[in-house]
Amino acid sequence: MKCNLNFFLISTLVLFSSCSARLKTGEETIVSGEAFDKFWTGRQVNRYGDSLSLTDKESQMTSLNKYLNFTVYAEILTQSGAEGKFSFHMHDEKDGSSGGYSVILNSSDYRSGNNQKSGSLAFIRNNFIKTTNDNEWFTLGVSVKANHILVTVNDKLISEYIEPGLPDRITGMEEMVLSKGLIAFEKTNEQGVLIIRNIKLTVLGKNIPVEKDTIFVNDSTGEMLTLLNQQAFPVIDYHAHLKGGLTTEQLSVNGRLNGINYGVAPNCGLNFPVTNDSTLIAYYNEMKSAHVFNAMQCEGREWVKLFSPEPVADFDYIFTDAMTWTDHKGRRMRLWMPEETVIEDEQQFMDMLTSKIVAILSQEPVDIYVNPTFLPPPIAENYDRLWTPERMDKVIKALVDNDVALEINSRYKIPGLAFIKRAKAAGVKFTLGTNNAGKDDLGRLEYSLKIIREAGIETSDMFIPRPAGDKKISKMGLPSKVTG
Ligand SMILES: [Zn+2]
Repeated sequence: MKCNLNFFLISTLVLFSSCSARLKTGEETIVSGEAFDKFWTGRQVNRYGDSLSLTDKESQMTSLNKYLNFTVYAEILTQSGAEGKFSFHMHDEKDGSSGGYSVILNSSDYRSGNNQKSGSLAFIRNNFIKTTNDNEWFTLGVSVKANHILVTVNDKLISEYIEPGLPDRITGMEEMVLSKGLIAFEKTNEQGVLIIRNIKLTVLGKNIPVEKDTIFVNDSTGEMLTLLNQQAFPVIDYHAHLKGGLTTEQLSVNGRLNGINYGVAPNCGLNFPVTNDSTLIAYYNEMKSAHVFNAMQCEGREWVKLFSPEPVADFDYIFTDAMTWTDHKGRRMRLWMPEETVIEDEQQFMDMLTSKIVAILSQEPVDIYVNPTFLPPPIAENYDRLWTPERMDKVIKALVDNDVALEINSRYKIPGLAFIKRAKAAGVKFTLGTNNAGKDDLGRLEYSLKIIREAGIETSDMFIPRPAGDKKISKMGLPSKVTG
């Protein structure tokens, strides 16, 4: 539904509060509209009928009472780039940032506004996937039951957190824990208007049992996931596959409780199930409502002749590797298959591989180079010797010149640290990726997270998908002939 701006021109400014009303446990109550003054105190909140509009960066409405266990359900509309947040278990009504947690309200496209999008449990279980659109109403649901927080957007579960007994918090975030506190809606940027209506609040009983998180493992990878989420680092596995019976739901559970966002790709190319526009469009339509980034893995070199730019541009990003190509003697090789890979001279092979990678990165309109620097099994043990500085620099230059991001791949544990450090120094953007072969090797980005720490990679070094209308495939089109 679209919103009419004129609707709000005759609004009234609410700057006062009156005596608060208590809620009955277990009973859903509408706390907006006529009931506003009984439940909220507002700062620069415009009210018209049941709708509340927050227009300024400081606009905020805070509950008069404190709540422990509760559910909140509200209809929200972000207009013209407005961003906001819903906070709960805050200690102090004067300072919205004191204590408790916040859920992000943000419909901006990728690469603009906050990287965290609607439904993100900020700094704890971040959501980087766009879930809402400007000027369209959406429903936000937040529930707190003992130590279990659930966030839904349009009734789809987006963020989930089971607070452990002694939560790890970085300096400055020690207060980000559950207690009993105020709830609040707040606008957090200058742009647009944040509109809220039909807020339903249900207070739940005190004696809800604490839950045990059986998924999150607090080992060194778990510690990195906690730390990176608190730094709002985009912990996104851009390279997952629904293989071996793995479902999007299983992927989402793993992601929600570990603090990882996922991008899912089908393999698209010659002799793959997705092999032309119609199968690509059918796949996209089946997946577009899933809470994942929708990606396309472009296979072989023939993919450029099998698909049209328009359906490809619907995907959040596309990627390829350099593991399939035809050598100087016309042999089509898949480098992970020993029976197909011919290495007559390893130096000559490396020079050919390097030039194939450069050709692919400069001619194919891909966003990410995945399984990067992969060497076939017979020569893989010589990785450090064969990837000479000169060869590394040729690949790195092609990445920079063509604005292609470099995957740090957890399955093959590539590229090596020396390559990553060189690429970072040259300004290459990075992604994290697993490339799971089934449902039991999804992991938690172990190698990628270790490399991030060792190479000192920061949020600003990370790739974020291009916004609609700015896709490489739309700008470059597809090459007229197959690469390599
Ligand atoms: Zn893959």
